[in-house]
Amino acid sequence: KAKEAGKNNCQFYTKGMNATAVNYLLLENDLRRALELNQFTLHYQPQIDLKTGELMGVEALVRWQHPERGLVSPAHFIPLAEETGLIVPIGEWVLREACRQQKIWLDAGKKVGKIAVNLSPRQFRQKNFPGKVEAILRETQLAPEYLELEITESCAMEHAGETINQLNQLNQMGMYLAIDDFGTGYSSLAYLQRFPIQKLKIDRSFVNDIHDDMNDAAITKTIIGLAHSMQLRVVAEGVETEHQAEWLRQRGCDQAQGFLYAKPMSPKQFESHFHGGRFCFDGTVIPLESYK
Ligand code: C2E
Ligand code: MG
Ligand code: MG
Ligand code: MG
Repeated sequence: KAKEAGKNNCQFYTKGMNATAVNYLLLENDLRRALELNQFTLHYQPQIDLKTGELMGVEALVRWQHPERGLVSPAHFIPLAEETGLIVPIGEWVLREACRQQKIWLDAGKKVGKIAVNLSPRQFRQKNFPGKVEAILRETQLAPEYLELEITESCAMEHAGETINQLNQLNQMGMYLAIDDFGTGYSSLAYLQRFPIQKLKIDRSFVNDIHDDMNDAAITKTIIGLAHSMQLRVVAEGVETEHQAEWLRQRGCDQAQGFLYAKPMSPKQFESHFHGGRFCFDGTVIPLESYK
């Protein structure tokens, strides 16, 4: 009812009022109910070993199946969810759902590697967050080695001291930890070294431009070198062309994720790529001969 009234108001107000603000309010109303109505869904995007072509992991990416707006991208509601604190229950749902799906795939003999879940700052900063992860792993009966958690570079560096404590607890539980969107924040190398992490993900804004922008190419090379000097795996995000993949492969980047291989897929779409327990790409996107 409130939503209907809100919708009419929206048209009424657009002249005098900030349309974005109204839109935001409508969205917040809907977002509060979305969990109860079971409107979130996860899509999965593969992460590929650049040398062997093997599937190393999948990143779980949340979408909101909105009754009127259709499939809403996380970019449109995660900031609002973060602001309102709704990210905490939403993030918990995402983590549980990803673990549940991973367990199903494992039990069915479908090897997807690690399942990577994005954490928002507010979620990650909760004092009892490691305990929550532990409870979800127990509930879904998933071994921690099949889970990977991603926090962004800016989140990690914002309260670096706290980050170290939180990461240490998670690391001791046996899961993989990754720094997402690396290169976009202001990293302190001293802190980076003290984070018990296993992976850096190069932000796609650099990867996009490696062939057109010398600075982006230089930054990408530097991140690969930095990661390796710290014994970390390095993943390039947003790889769209074979040209980019080849450039990254030649410079020793370990893994790639991007539209060249696959867009994020629904669980059904994702499963359609399995043949005899192995994940296979269709048609022209096969990057290496190791996939038959
Ligand atoms: P991210 O974690 O850096 O995820 C990668 C984003 O890049 C995804 O966008 C993915 O669809 C997109 N992408 C992957 N390959 C390519 C490519 O080749 N080209 C281009 N142009 N884009 C590519 P998506 O799914 O819209 O997610 C956007 C962001 O929303 C994520 O960035 C992440 O920060 C956030 N997010 C997504 N799911 C969750 C979640 O469950 N929890 C939290 N806290 N944040 C999430
Ligand atoms: Mg991510
Ligand atoms: Mg990223
Ligand atoms: Mg650029």
